[in-house]
Amino acid sequence: MPDRYAVIGNPVAHSKSPWIHARFAVQTGQDIVYQPLLAPKDGFAATVEAFRAAGGRGANVTLPFKEEACAISTRLSERARAAQAVNTLIFSGSEIRGDNTDGYGLVRDLAANLGFAIAGCRILLAGAGGAARGVVLPLLAERPSALVIANRTVDKARVLAGGFAGVRACGYSDLAGEGFDLVINATSAGLSDAALPLPRGIFLAGSLAYDMVYGRDTAFMRQARADGAARAADGLGMLVEQAAESFFLWRGVRPDTAPVLSALRAG
Ligand code: NAP
Repeated sequence: MPDRYAVIGNPVAHSKSPWIHARFAVQTGQDIVYQPLLAPKDGFAATVEAFRAAGGRGANVTLPFKEEACAISTRLSERARAAQAVNTLIFSGSEIRGDNTDGYGLVRDLAANLGFAIAGCRILLAGAGGAARGVVLPLLAERPSALVIANRTVDKARVLAGGFAGVRACGYSDLAGEGFDLVINATSAGLSDAALPLPRGIFLAGSLAYDMVYGRDTAFMRQARADGAARAADGLGMLVEQAAESFFLWRGVRPDTAPVLSALRAG
């Protein structure tokens, strides 16, 4: 019997994770099955329990359950604790280990796929939801010279920044006159093709604009190019890299992400 894994969310039918993990399994010769699992909005914990009872070995967790996954974990990794959100569950005996691979996925995509060096650069992180929370600690570990968090609801940015030394929080209009080497859009604005109210001139020469939303040329990416960003990238590479880290946590084998990312880009 192959070991069973799942991605649990609501909705979940659109998820590319089953396709990605199937490719990883073939590539590394791992005998696993990985399925999408729709949990009722008020039934996440019960869905996890039923999956465990049926022999499930681990799961990815997506919207809107990452905080609940954190709450049901009996042990948290440092990066999951910092994020207060879990996207990877590892079932081991009676223990539920919770981890968060989103930040790893972002940092790896920036460094390995996009050739962007974070050390010493000024970063603007737009958004203060679950995705933003997951990436602050891994970004800081790369030693940027500054990390500023801006959000529509400024209080949420303040709460998030308050958990980390040296991180500043503000609203979008407060950014006037500032410049950044890397601007990361961790908001869901791109899903409705909405741009961010960023002041003109914040993209420094050679800067990279990165939208975590993937599979489309978002309003933020177009806005960034028009305002002088040297490059704009979507979050498809992050998606594949965070999946590879989850796969590694479960199977102890690191898949080669490049062919999987190329195949996804080719559609
Ligand atoms: P979330 O917890 O619901 O947070 C949404 C964030 O977007 C909040 O900061 C919210 O601001 C902001 N926002 C929403 N609409 C906005 C608008 N029109 N203008 C300005 N700000 C707006 O969602 P999340 O879990 O953080 O996810 C955010 C995005 O990241 C999603 O699109 C998700 O698909 C993507 N993501 C991608 C990956 C990947 O692997 N590529 C991984 C994780 C997440 P307020 O606080 O003011 O409401």
